Amino acid sequence: SPEKTPILEVSKLVKRFGGFHALDGLSFHVVPGEILGLVGPNGSGKTTAINVISGLYAPDGGEVVFDGASAGGVASHKLVHRGINRTFQVPKPFLSLTVRENIQVALAYGGATGAPSIAELLEDFRLKEVADRPAADLNSAQQKMLDLTRALATRPRLLLLDELAAGLNPAELDWIAGRIKALAATGMAIIVVEHLMGFIEQITDRVIVLNAGREIFEGTLATAVREPQVIEVFLGG
Ligand code: ADP
Repeated sequence: SPEKTPILEVSKLVKRFGGFHALDGLSFHVVPGEILGLVGPNGSGKTTAINVISGLYAPDGGEVVFDGASAGGVASHKLVHRGINRTFQVPKPFLSLTVRENIQVALAYGGATGAPSIAELLEDFRLKEVADRPAADLNSAQQKMLDLTRALATRPRLLLLDELAAGLNPAELDWIAGRIKALAATGMAIIVVEHLMGFIEQITDRVIVLNAGREIFEGTLATAVREPQVIEVFLGG
């Protein structure tokens, strides 16, 4: 089958904090329908990569091209309208609004044609029972699901998931893995940052291993874990 055109291409991305290079020439791409994992030790630049791609930070060098157009340094709300959205390690819903109202806000903000309905999102992400409760009442797993529905309400073509699985129990992990794969099957490109390697193995097609803001490996996770330079950075060698 012909190679798909990447929806996102990141090249030689640099992000500095003071004199420290959190990203130091990172390049990779993702194609529609693909689930790409970003893995690497703490501090290797995974979240910074998500923050730059989603417009939270402007890069200090390199390029981000989304759907054929430059996206580096473009504000988050503009990128949401162009089709990039994300979840956060620590979700920050409007705590006094109900779950339903939080999703309504995201639907209004995204303004996407063909966006999923509130009923569908509540059902798909197990939030029906708590739909009319304030977001402050949700447990951490439910807050993560609400954060995900908020992102999906804007109908992204590129979805960035930052530690979505952290804190979920094994049954929830299995279930959410299925949901993420179903989203990718619709053609959505998905980038996941996770520490849980079993989860990464279950859902990703390919991983990029980062160390010190650079790629040190690209391929399947099964191959990555046999590479000496990957083993070394994970063992802190
Ligand atoms: P990872 O997600 O792989 O754990 P991060 O991207 O969060 O790594 O962080 C990479 C490095 O950049 C870390 O050393 C971190 O302390 C630093 N860093 C990230 N964000 C900031 C920031 N806003 N200000 C200063 N340093 C930061």
